[in-house]
Order: sequence, then structure tokens, then C-alpha cells
Amino acid sequence: MQRLNGKTTAEEIRAELKTAVASRKQKGMKIPHLAAVLVGNDGGSMSYVGAKVKACDEIGFNSSLIRFEDTLTEQELLNKVEELNQDEEIDGFIVQLPLPKHINETKITDHISPNKDVDGFHPMNLGNMLLNLPGFLPATPAGIMELLKRNKIETSGKHCVVLGRSNIVGTPLSIMLSRNSNPGNCTVTLAHSRTQNLKELCLQADILIAAIGKPEFVTKDMVKDDAVIIDVGTTRVSDSSRERGWRLVGDVNFAEVAPKTSYITPVPGGVGPMTIASLMMNTLKAMELNGK
Ligand code: NAP
Repeated sequence: MQRLNGKTTAEEIRAELKTAVASRKQKGMKIPHLAAVLVGNDGGSMSYVGAKVKACDEIGFNSSLIRFEDTLTEQELLNKVEELNQDEEIDGFIVQLPLPKHINETKITDHISPNKDVDGFHPMNLGNMLLNLPGFLPATPAGIMELLKRNKIETSGKHCVVLGRSNIVGTPLSIMLSRNSNPGNCTVTLAHSRTQNLKELCLQADILIAAIGKPEFVTKDMVKDDAVIIDVGTTRVSDSSRERGWRLVGDVNFAEVAPKTSYITPVPGGVGPMTIASLMMNTLKAMELNGK
């Protein structure tokens, strides 16, 4: 078993981005600027956004964190999105999800300019992804593809089972992995809560990707020998032994599954850092695409 260390791979990407930024700075060119909009005080969202801002600082990107109380109206948020769309200094921005229930997430995502949509959630970017046209790829699936690529994991001809069909992870990932590319050329099974014989399907997987948000759902009896396991899940579970009172748990029971695998991502330190790294790559790309 080998750990697929997303933290190390993400550090490699950050070092490359740092060099790119330093070289732009030296030439007097614009520095990428990422803005993040955070509504409310959800602990998970605050730490995700915090990690994104920290990554910007480390690389040398400019960043702006824009915070609102969860009493913010949908129209007020739409106005902020419009302002960021028009702001020449901002190259890309994200609106951290989930949003409070009174705000329609689709309406907000659809209002972000596709040219600044570094999360890759806008229908135009998702459509471009489907058609393999240029655009921004959703950060988590793109991060997973980069992780596979940089760690030279063979995907061609492999059977990949993806658990979870969300628009931001499972569904786009299933498309990217089935594309004629490297990584890619997988035969993909996309499973969800209505899938029957899930265990039998998982046992056929050369590559098993779990993105369902159910802590330790994947157990050793569901995994074939030498499979590659990518654990996307991040659920906070209470843990009184930790000072903060919780820990992050993936969708895979790491302790019992890891010994059977050829490669496995840990949680934390697997997919999470790669998601942030691909957001940073998208931000640099946004600035370059906008001719700056
Ligand atoms: P989501 O919107 O929470 O949807 C969950 C998906 O899992 C749905 O498609 C659901 O099926 C499926 N599902 C639920 N229970 C299942 C079961 N027992 N068997 C098979 N499928 C089942 O998904 P998401 O937003 O992609 O998030 C999934 C997990 O990834 C969460 O823990 C989230 O925190 C994490 N995540 C991590 C990162 C990262 O950077 N590390 C990024 C994004 C998300 P139905 O469609 O039938 O309901």
C-alpha cells in the first residue's frame, strides 16, 4: 500500500505557481487576485475559505475575503456577484457553498461570469467540460485528475467506480475519467443511493472513488486487492479527544481498507489540498485568459 499524498502533490503545484507569480512580479505584470465570498458562520465553510486565502498568501496571489451575515438577502448577494464580475482587479472568485436556505444557490452560481468562475460550477463551464472545450474545470475533480497524473497512476482500460453523482464531484469526474485522455480512458460506473448491488460493483473496481459524505462507508469487504482508492468524503465527526472537539472523517474506513490497496488517499491530506491547488491553477488561468 502506498499513500497517495495530496498534500505533497499540492505543495509541488504551489511551488510552481509561486515561481510563475514571482516571474510575473519581476516583469511588472499583474498578480492573480482571488476573491472569496462567505455567507454566515458555518465552521466547515469558514475553514475551507480560510485554507483558500492561506494558499493565496503562500503563493503570492492577492486575495479578498468578503464576509456577510446569514441575514443577507439573495438580491444583495446577486449585487455583490455583479460587482465582482465587473471588478477589473479580481481575476476569479468563488461563493462558498452551501448558502443559507433562503438563497437559491443555482441563481447565484449562474450569475457568476463564466470567465471568473474559478470553481467551474457555471453551466457554461460544465457544458464546456462535457464537450472537452476550453473552460474552467470544477476544482475537486480536476484536482483528482491532477493527483492521478502526477503520481503516474495507470487509468487506461481500468474499471472505475465513482460513488456519488453530485454536480461538483461525482458527475464531472465520471466524464473526465471516461474521456480519451491521460488520465482517462476508464470504463466508468457512476453509483448513487439507488444503485443496487453496490458491494458487488465496488468489488469490480480497479479504481474506487468515494464522494458520498458517509463516514467510513467503504469497508474492506467492498474493495478488491490492489485497488486504487480515492476518498473525497470529508465529514466532521465529534471527537472529545481533540481540542477542537471534532475530526474529519472520509467515506472510506482507512484503517481496514488501506492494507488491501495499491494506492489510497488519506483524509485529511488527500483530495482536500488538491482541490485548493486546482482552484489556484484556475485563478492563474483566469487572469491569463482575460489577457492580463
Ligand atoms: P452530495 O451533494 O453530498 O451528494 C452525495 C451523493 O452521494 C449523492 O449523489 C447521493 O446519491 C450519493 N449517496 C448518498 N448515500 C449513498 C449511498 N449509501 N450509496 C451510494 N451513494 C450514496 O455530494 P458532494 O457535494 O460531492 O459531497 C460528497 C462528499 O465529498 C462530502 O463529504 C463533501 O464534504 C466531500 N467533498 C470534499 C471535497 C474536498 O475537496 N475534499 C470537495 C467537495 C466535496 P443520490 O444522488 O441518489 O442522493
